[in-house]
Amino acid sequence: MASTLTDRLSHLVKTMRGQARITESNVQDMLREVRMALLEADVALPVVRDFIARVKDKALGQEVVGSLNPGQVLVSIVQKELAATMGEGISDINLAAQPPAVILMAGLQGAGKTTTTAKLAKHLIERRKKKVLTVSADVYRPAAIEQLKTVTKQAGAEWFPSAPDQKPRDIALAALDHAKRHYFDVLLVDTAGRLAIDEALMAEIRELHATIHPVETLFVVDAMQGQDAVNTARAFKEALPLTGVVLTKLDGDSRGGAALSVRQVTGAPIKFAGVSEKIDGLEVFDAERHAGRVLGMGDIVALVEEVTKGVDIAAAQKLAEKVKSGSGFDLNDFLAQISQMKKMGGLGNLMDKLPTQMAAKAGQADLDRAERDMKRMEGILNAMTAKERRQPALLMDGKSKASRKRRIAAGAGVQIQEVNRLLNQFDQMQGMMKKMKGGGLMKMMKKLGG
Ligand code: GDP
Repeated sequence: MASTLTDRLSHLVKTMRGQARITESNVQDMLREVRMALLEADVALPVVRDFIARVKDKALGQEVVGSLNPGQVLVSIVQKELAATMGEGISDINLAAQPPAVILMAGLQGAGKTTTTAKLAKHLIERRKKKVLTVSADVYRPAAIEQLKTVTKQAGAEWFPSAPDQKPRDIALAALDHAKRHYFDVLLVDTAGRLAIDEALMAEIRELHATIHPVETLFVVDAMQGQDAVNTARAFKEALPLTGVVLTKLDGDSRGGAALSVRQVTGAPIKFAGVSEKIDGLEVFDAERHAGRVLGMGDIVALVEEVTKGVDIAAAQKLAEKVKSGSGFDLNDFLAQISQMKKMGGLGNLMDKLPTQMAAKAGQADLDRAERDMKRMEGILNAMTAKERRQPALLMDGKSKASRKRRIAAGAGVQIQEVNRLLNQFDQMQGMMKKMKGGGLMKMMKKLGG
């Protein structure tokens, strides 16, 4: 389950602290956890094996930058690779055809084909401003034809009638003809599904495909099928040149592993995800977000990018060196840390990107207070002279400390006590920095998170 993966990985992330690069030995444990987690997420075994090999390849020897540790870097590699395996970015429906663009919906009975056909119609009408016609070629279940009629109406699209005594091929041709004559942009063809793969069904849908030349052939699959989705996907891929996948019932699937298997087996991009029974419960599939969900780790990739983008790595390393060599962490460094945080969009922004369990520990009120404190501290630090920031001792035990503090307080528009408080905090932080041996924003945030 996702939550145990988070726990496992966070534990490993902790044990990998202080190691400068990813090596054969420190990567093993981590990969074992990832492998277990993927299997538990119901990803098919051969897919897992391939995946682990690719991650290992990418991870070995990877330099660990800034305040991240090898565990965090590895998690980010895993998430990126997951996202890449599930598809590059976002791919919408291809309508680049002489209108009407025909879209063929394929999949087992109960996968959600009819529902998805209507959802897709609505999507194309609202987002792509298309005139959409639907038709059902499911001649085995009169109820299926009626169901399509009902949901098509809900979608605001038009429905083309069909009947159980017709041949699927003839239905499709009649609908295509109607769509052409009435200037429809898109024709969505819903097809018959069986409870399991059978050759007659495959032959029928192959014939339909050859007759209407769809620009998109979408394989609709129930995410909750997990491992079984792989076999279904393989059978449909062998029968038809699939151009995309719609993963339905993602709302009921906490594991999310089917996405990985199905994508790998079909080689086709996952274009949409069904997220509710309702007509608007269709989302353009976002591989990266889904990868984060499979890992249950929040948006680590975004966090990693944020940390490496906002922070001047050279400056951070210099600071780390300074602390390590014992040459002192001064108030200028304190000010620099605060402005780095600000560059990254403040604490709240970073917290948003952390795994929820971690972020939940720091309440919004705490965050607001921390942000306010940070602003005030910045004001006080700016009211000091550069020399005072370089030599905090002037303010802590220098002869003129009282008058200096008065001047600073007046300059920043705060009480003297606040200046004292900042100096105390600085003192504490100096101690903390020494302990951490090498400035760690992540560590600081973890402290904040409890
Ligand atoms: P078909 O046999 O492939 O045409 O499947 P249907 O469209 O009739 O869907 C089968 C069942 O799955 C119906 O009860 C739908 O309401 C439900 N369903 C379809 N897509 C989703 C989804 O994304 N989320 C949820 N929760 N239910 C869905």
